[in-house]
Amino acid sequence: PMALQPASLELRELGNTGLKLSCVGFGASPLGNVFGPVSDEDAIASVGEAFRRGINFFDTSPYYGGTLSEKMLGKSLKALGVPRHKYIVSTKCGRYVEGFDFSADRVTRSIDESLARLQLDYVDILQCHDIEFGSLDQVVNETIPALQKIKEAGKIRFIGITGLPLEVFTYVLDRVPPGTVDVILSYCHYSINDSTLEDLLPYLKNKGVGVITASPLAMGLLTERGPPEWHPASPELKSACQAAVAHCKEKGKNISKLALQYSLSNKDFSSVLVGMNSVGQVEENVAAAIEVTTVGKDVETLSEVEAILKPVKNQTWPSGIQH
Ligand code: NAD
Repeated sequence: PMALQPASLELRELGNTGLKLSCVGFGASPLGNVFGPVSDEDAIASVGEAFRRGINFFDTSPYYGGTLSEKMLGKSLKALGVPRHKYIVSTKCGRYVEGFDFSADRVTRSIDESLARLQLDYVDILQCHDIEFGSLDQVVNETIPALQKIKEAGKIRFIGITGLPLEVFTYVLDRVPPGTVDVILSYCHYSINDSTLEDLLPYLKNKGVGVITASPLAMGLLTERGPPEWHPASPELKSACQAAVAHCKEKGKNISKLALQYSLSNKDFSSVLVGMNSVGQVEENVAAAIEVTTVGKDVETLSEVEAILKPVKNQTWPSGIQH
């Protein structure tokens, strides 16, 4: 008799790219020590465990940990020892620890620097990082055309934009030729406390743009450990999330699992990027993803948590320069 195959992570199409991303993506910002220190051994083991458990999508940026995340991800991917086409890598340009620079010149140098740190010949997706901090007209007229040249040179396969305020996506997508921006990456807008990204889906579908949603744990708000010191949420939002965490703990439930399963439930999002820095977190998150497709969500606890978070629902924070 055939051995039973363990259920594996679902793959989802990313817009019109032809890429099939694992529904859980590996957010590599923690490998830049942004949520606390991570050893080389833990980084390599986490990426290895993720890949073996079906995660094929890894996201980083030169900004995370001041290039450390890219270096650690590169080292970890190399250690996998598998052919390059088996995994999908996205990185970013325009945001650096030294500041923002979306000029054609800077992003053209940036991709070469990223490829060297990642030890790769190409990345699958290059995204303009947090464009609300730049001039959106520069992104439209200068940065994206520069990325198209980089694409023609074979250094990247697809072009994306990222940011917090949802208006930046419509601003840019309304002004570029169809098909130039392949993907958007949004964060902190599709988790239990804020689901506003959902409203943008019909528009994005119509534009043929793939959608990645990041930070299902609201950058630590929906974890027992709590948010890092730099977290931009208001004291009110922080304390509401703290109350939700406490409620789950009392019931013997894991808020992070509940939160990840919430974000995974809408299949119009091609991948949910979770920041991970340990083998244990990888195991938990993959198990949560498989459970939600086989068993379903914990609707009772979810509605209790939604009730606790109702007063702060869809509350966000300012990001970027005013346009
Ligand atoms: P997140 O909501 O995924 O939370 C990450 C935190 O949760 C980390 O401290 C991590 O260690 C912890 N965690 C992960 N799994 C856990 C589990 N099972 N139990 C308890 N804690 C757990 O936030 P994030 O890391 O900011 O976002 C995910 C990724 O998305 C980033 O790494 C990055 O790749 C991407 N991202 C991009 C942008 C952008 O482009 N502007 C912004 C935010 C995030």
